[in-house]
Amino acid sequence: PVRVRFCPSPTGNPHVGLVRTALFNWAFARHHQGTLVFRIEDTDAARDSEESYQQLLDSMRWLGFDWDEGPEVGGPHAPYRQSQRMDLYKDVADKLLAAGHAYHCYCTTEELDERRDAARKAGKPSGYDGKCRTLTAEQKAAYEAEDRVSIVRFRMPDEPITFTDLVRGELTFTPENVPDFGIVRANGAPLYTLVNPVDDALMEITHVLRGEDLLSSTPRQIALYKALIELGVAKDIPAFGHLPYVMGEGNKKLSKRDPQASLNLYRDRGFLPEGLLNYLALLGWSFSADQDIFSIAELIEKFDIADVNANPARFDLKKAEAINADHIRQLDVKSFIAACEPWLKAPHANWAPEDFDEAAWQAIAPYAQTRLTVLSDITANVDFLFLKEPVEDEASWTKAMKGDPAALLATARGKLLGADWNSPESLKEAVLAAGEEHGLKLGKAQAPVRVAATGRTVGLPLFESLQILGQERTIARIDAALA
Ligand code: GLU
Repeated sequence: PVRVRFCPSPTGNPHVGLVRTALFNWAFARHHQGTLVFRIEDTDAARDSEESYQQLLDSMRWLGFDWDEGPEVGGPHAPYRQSQRMDLYKDVADKLLAAGHAYHCYCTTEELDERRDAARKAGKPSGYDGKCRTLTAEQKAAYEAEDRVSIVRFRMPDEPITFTDLVRGELTFTPENVPDFGIVRANGAPLYTLVNPVDDALMEITHVLRGEDLLSSTPRQIALYKALIELGVAKDIPAFGHLPYVMGEGNKKLSKRDPQASLNLYRDRGFLPEGLLNYLALLGWSFSADQDIFSIAELIEKFDIADVNANPARFDLKKAEAINADHIRQLDVKSFIAACEPWLKAPHANWAPEDFDEAAWQAIAPYAQTRLTVLSDITANVDFLFLKEPVEDEASWTKAMKGDPAALLATARGKLLGADWNSPESLKEAVLAAGEEHGLKLGKAQAPVRVAATGRTVGLPLFESLQILGQERTIARIDAALA
């Protein structure tokens, strides 16, 4: 059975790279009717925070992910927060030491730096040189007498490590490139290099899908796994697949500190979770060159790790928006109305809560639905219905009021008064007729009417908008424009 894991560290705000990793693991688990383990890698007290942890859970829920084991749901390998599993890591570290797979290293940072620099200058590999690999009991005692502290270092095997990456195919790492590495700090704190594979082993993870930035960890983890299998801690080495880098502006790797990388940005602007996930899935994956819009159900049905591309993916905000717009259009009207409500009701709105008109909103919603890229755009599209006076936008006025708009507006006012307000078509004919009297085509004639009624030069279909605004308010706004 497939068992995959999503194991973020709760530092900072959730970012799109992390969401993509979660998505691919989730889709893979669901596609194979496997198990998704959600684990919190919070062993770095200096960087992890409870606030980030809560945000992480909140974000996962907002995106619509569910997990089979992990925080809030529990499971057979609980606890799922590494900060609560410290005894387990200590136990494994002790076993590795006892079996000779790990050793105490007394080198100080200064000594390590010095030797690394010297190796670099001599053109030799600059990783750990193995100085403490074979210390005798006397040498150790001498170091201890000097009051030196020691870290625990894992002893890498002397032969190359080869594995078949699910995305990149066969990869080989030679010993010069993968030196012995620290697994426990001098203060006894276990490091990512230990806790991550130990938990993968204990939680019986079958597939590790994660970002390419972690590729260099993989030969170490495979070596550690082999030791764990020998010690009876692990059963099998999982398969590994590394998801391609995501490139941002200027062909640089998208960093989690980039504003474009922040998940909250997309949430606050009103991306639909399914729109965002659809877009993020395309960062490295697709199932067909001519279909880039799909539902979550389709994604799960079609997801195959073999279709993940090893080449870097390009982050494209415009494309993300276009895909989101598509998902907005696909909502049924009721869901669209519900999705917009957080933006229409205080505190996002710029009108008084009591001026919000539910009936007008329900009437205009279908026209707005086809126009939005992100849900937060809704306020600018419908605010003319709820503001006492339309927004005052100098630029719109000068643009729409070229020539002699007063004469046109006065004529339009008269025709609109006589029109049938149950019919947008009749309102259109009124403005068309007013335009004819002044030698203006419909487009030119309706511009001042739109600005007078809505405050803007562009917006939803005008005559439907006027009808929903109502005769009385439309005429009053034209009067105000004429005054
Ligand atoms: N906690 C690690 C991270 O967030 C997990 C990496 C992994 O998937 O192995 O980078």
